[in-house]
Amino acid sequence: MATAIPEAAPRTGAERPRFAVQKHWARNLHYDFRLEIGGALVSWAVPKGPSKDPSVKRLAIHVEDHPLDYLLFEGALPEGDYGAGEVIVWDYGEFEVVGPAGEDAAAALSEGVMRIVLYGTKLRGEWTILKTKMGGGKRENWLLQKMQDEFALADYDPESEPASALTGKVPQRRG
Ligand code: MN
Repeated sequence: MATAIPEAAPRTGAERPRFAVQKHWARNLHYDFRLEIGGALVSWAVPKGPSKDPSVKRLAIHVEDHPLDYLLFEGALPEGDYGAGEVIVWDYGEFEVVGPAGEDAAAALSEGVMRIVLYGTKLRGEWTILKTKMGGGKRENWLLQKMQDEFALADYDPESEPASALTGKVPQRRG
């Protein structure tokens, strides 16, 4: 069956880097927000999922990088593994870094603040991801926030768009 799966061909470097958001029914449902930076998927777990409402800041817990070939993974992570549970590709596309100090994603990451434009199927327009000091401990807590633009949407709930961005299918499950 034909689906809109992007080419896995080698990248020339001329294209924009890619991103994906995987909805993951682990012990606690969350959305994994992943950006292609430096040859890996820099990743954050967003418990409540991204919000298109610019007045909402969503906790995004920085987690381990994932390999690039995980970008469009959809399926079941086996029991016994960390993160066991179903995964769908909730959104994917390309992104670009637009600030605050340049277009170098790795530099923005180490500065702890990145303004990006997302070119996804659900998430579009400008976003900020900002490292905070809240929470403490080993967790690195960031905040993901939509900036005001034509793609902003007040009172947005990611559960209102439940389908896989790859297959268009809505998983028959809770949440
Ligand atoms: Mn996860």
